[in-house]
Amino acid sequence: MHKIQITLTCLALLLPTQAGAEKLYLGRNDPINKNGSLNNQPLLDRANSMVTLKYPTRVDFVKCGHPNAYYIPNDRILVFCHELTKLIYDQVKNLKTEEEKGWAFGGGRYFILFHEISHAMIHQYEIPISGREEDVADQLSFWMMYQYARAVESAEITDQRSNESIAKQDIFNRFRGAMLLMLAPEISTSSYADEHAFNAQRFANLNCWLYGADPSNAASLALAASTLPTGRLKKCNAEWQKIDNFVSRVVNKSPD
Ligand SMILES: [Zn+2]
Repeated sequence: MHKIQITLTCLALLLPTQAGAEKLYLGRNDPINKNGSLNNQPLLDRANSMVTLKYPTRVDFVKCGHPNAYYIPNDRILVFCHELTKLIYDQVKNLKTEEEKGWAFGGGRYFILFHEISHAMIHQYEIPISGREEDVADQLSFWMMYQYARAVESAEITDQRSNESIAKQDIFNRFRGAMLLMLAPEISTSSYADEHAFNAQRFANLNCWLYGADPSNAASLALAASTLPTGRLKKCNAEWQKIDNFVSRVVNKSPD
């Protein structure tokens, strides 16, 4: 079995990725508008601190002509389209505070990046899956996002805060960008044959897993309770456990 170092944030705090082990590297970083390019290096640095892919994998931030992000297996290139970044921004720009917008915008971009990294991991490590890869990529992305948000919150609690209820609210807010993105109109013409679940389904899944990962989070509970039927709500913690078990047993497996 391949050694898969998903040094997820909680682990990464104890075992930081060794210098030189970074596999995600910035390729093209084209201007997003007339004011210039976004600084995308911190996004990749964070991902590299959490995940070690098997092969060097280039990440391009470019104009595509449509909002999308995708992984090209044969070239080991991950493409993050500017149009998708703009769509995330459009979805979060009406949130109340600058802080909320910042969390949601960053969170939305992390979710997309982790989703594409998940495709790269499934391909490069030949992770066994059965069923729709897009669903598994959402699960892995959620798992990474959740660990990331928790670790960031722990650091912030230590550094700046003592009120846990605020920290839990922050974790919730980091997922809002991804959730709001799922509320956007379908990116392409909806079809029952599409590789992805419908946005509304992906939104419901994120809701369910966020609540299931921590049923004591009042913000997650409030959203989940208002959007999910009771029958699904009761199963969310079990769904989270399945994802967590999958990562522990299959993805984050110790070397044989
Ligand atoms: Zn995908």
